[in-house]
Amino acid sequence: MELKVHSYESMGTYDGPGLRLVVFLQGCPFRCLYCANPDTIAFEGGTPSAAEDIVKMALNQKPFFGKRGGVTFSGGEPSAQAEALVPVVKELQANGINVCIDTNGGIWNSHVEELFSLADLVLLDVKQFNPEKHLALTGHANTRTLQTAAWLEAHEKPFWLRYVLVPGISDDEKDIRDLGDYFGNGKYKMIKRVEILPYHTLGVSKYGPLGMDYKLKDVPLNTPEQLVKAKSIFDEYFDCAVLN
Ligand code: SF4
Repeated sequence: MELKVHSYESMGTYDGPGLRLVVFLQGCPFRCLYCANPDTIAFEGGTPSAAEDIVKMALNQKPFFGKRGGVTFSGGEPSAQAEALVPVVKELQANGINVCIDTNGGIWNSHVEELFSLADLVLLDVKQFNPEKHLALTGHANTRTLQTAAWLEAHEKPFWLRYVLVPGISDDEKDIRDLGDYFGNGKYKMIKRVEILPYHTLGVSKYGPLGMDYKLKDVPLNTPEQLVKAKSIFDEYFDCAVLN
């Protein structure tokens, strides 16, 4: 089976530990208002890519991965292509390459379950803990994402929780505290890192040419004070929170 690849990034440092080859897969069921890669959302498109080509590219770059690096599958939503991805992950791992899956956790089937059980590390994006605000932000409920987190914990699968802090959208103190109460204070032992990701607008220029409207035009970037405050709240619940 072929994977539909949107693009590659070599030497990536933002999506998992160490230096990584990041493979952005095409297609995502979410519609996040701040999506920085709106061109990866449509399931149509992308370049059909053979598993061997991806493995070959990773092997070429393996000398740069060091002890901590490897390959991260991102998107788009990589779990949407779980069936085709599973054999690629197995082949990479058979070659000693660490594999991370960057996911919104919103899809579940037997292939996704196998994918997550294989992954060395899952980067779980929790967009909002408040259910209504999550729906407004992404077009989807967060129920499945929370169930995915519970599955990762129950199956002792290490994961990073990633949270994009958008002023007025996901930085309300109560929402962060509710998330902290739910996951933090040692309740989720498999959470190895909490990444607070500042809001950025680097993807905005992609919207016009795609015929899409960027709805967060009036949302400002985080102030340094907002970031420091959010970090201090996360720190009350987690000893592994970092501001990226
Ligand atoms: S889950 Fe990721 S790729 Fe999908 S719409 Fe949201 S930000 Fe974009």
